Amino acid sequence: MSEKTFVGMQVGGISFIDEGVEETLDIFTDLAGVNAIFISALSWARGNAGRSGSGDYPDHGGQEPDNLQGGAFFPPDPKYYHGTTIKDFTAPDPLYEGWDILGDVIPAAKERGMEVFTYYCETAHARPKPLWQPGFSQVLEIDAWGRKDTRPCFHNPNYKNWWFGVIDNWLNEYDLNGVMWGIEREDPLSSMIVSAEVPTCFCVHCRSEAHRRNIDAGRAAEGYRRIYDYLTAVRGGHEPPDGKLITFLRHLFEYPEVLQWQKLWWDGHKGLYREISGQIRFFGPQYQVGFGIWQMINTFNPLLRAAFDPAEYKLYADWLKPVFYNAPGGARFVSFVNKMCQTILGDASPSEWTPILYKILGLDEAPYEDLPAAGFSPEYVKEFTRRHVEAVGPDVQVYPGIGLGVETVDRAINPPDVEDMVDASLAGGAGGVMISRNYSELTLTNLAAVGTALRRHGRI
Ligand SMILES: [Zn+2]
Repeated sequence: MSEKTFVGMQVGGISFIDEGVEETLDIFTDLAGVNAIFISALSWARGNAGRSGSGDYPDHGGQEPDNLQGGAFFPPDPKYYHGTTIKDFTAPDPLYEGWDILGDVIPAAKERGMEVFTYYCETAHARPKPLWQPGFSQVLEIDAWGRKDTRPCFHNPNYKNWWFGVIDNWLNEYDLNGVMWGIEREDPLSSMIVSAEVPTCFCVHCRSEAHRRNIDAGRAAEGYRRIYDYLTAVRGGHEPPDGKLITFLRHLFEYPEVLQWQKLWWDGHKGLYREISGQIRFFGPQYQVGFGIWQMINTFNPLLRAAFDPAEYKLYADWLKPVFYNAPGGARFVSFVNKMCQTILGDASPSEWTPILYKILGLDEAPYEDLPAAGFSPEYVKEFTRRHVEAVGPDVQVYPGIGLGVETVDRAINPPDVEDMVDASLAGGAGGVMISRNYSELTLTNLAAVGTALRRHGRI
């Protein structure tokens, strides 16, 4: 483990605009000893950029909605985007006019000895959509019925080239220490089961990849449609005579091409991580590659847990930020179990399934009924940090994402909770912490609690 304790902070451009560059950086260092900032330089998602979306503003920053549209908060240089149709993606939001959030913040952060990273998280949310962005509709996924869907396809070279252009643009034009990148998206089977969404992607690029793998795309699409119709019927009250899980498995076994397509989708997801990792390393060993790992992937969803072995990350990351938001974890897990019980786990109730899922997932948390108010425990943060540290070994650091301010929480997050999160991360073997989700939605009192805990451990 390195000597230095990593104290990262995720921050969107709006905070520097609302509160001033020097003033904001002073708060980071004074309150919490932050030594690495992660600027959300490109985002359409409220969890990563913009003011708090809950209408409940913290004790600093703008106190009214900013109606985030999103895009690039730096000026994209056209010379990096010849290989893609996505060329014009500067955020149109008037609040950001005249700002280059990277160029305006990096020098001040470097003067303080901070490391600076860009970070991007491609979220599960389909909104806000980059509707205004010319060329984006050309990279959208195609669903199993042949319709364009709402998110970009990982096998589409047009989309991938756009990303390679963004990385080129960032690393050539700005004095960065690296990039944190991540995707928070469900695979086609999970998105049907958990989120009642249509299965994707059957675009020409995915079909071409399937052809190389000798997968029958027509059978796969037919299988997904069959399962989608089945799950829709179950959600509508259909009670299959042989039970909901067994009937689901019967459909799946009838169409093994669906599982082949799952692998194709997951490989596209992982492939983009690997290519971006290699591209960053191409620029030189001084650049760090960090990956954010969604809580749905690292904790909640057994299908995603099976598909993403955390040990694999050591092939292409210098460090990981697994999201272990324990306070909102209770309400979010309840929501996840409820959705599973509306479909394939519908043979028993959420409160019956919860202790079984705990066993399967390696959790030991409050009973279902108490979970939203209780949240997940600090012990969860410790145990899951330890699992990840052990999985990736000594060459890859783990910096748990600790949730100080997160929307949709049924449970307040107070300074003692925050100190527990830091204590648990360090007890689990973390090399530091990533203060999340976003400075604009957390309170200064909670931020100060990070500093209190780190000082108590002699880490800052
Ligand atoms: Zn595709």
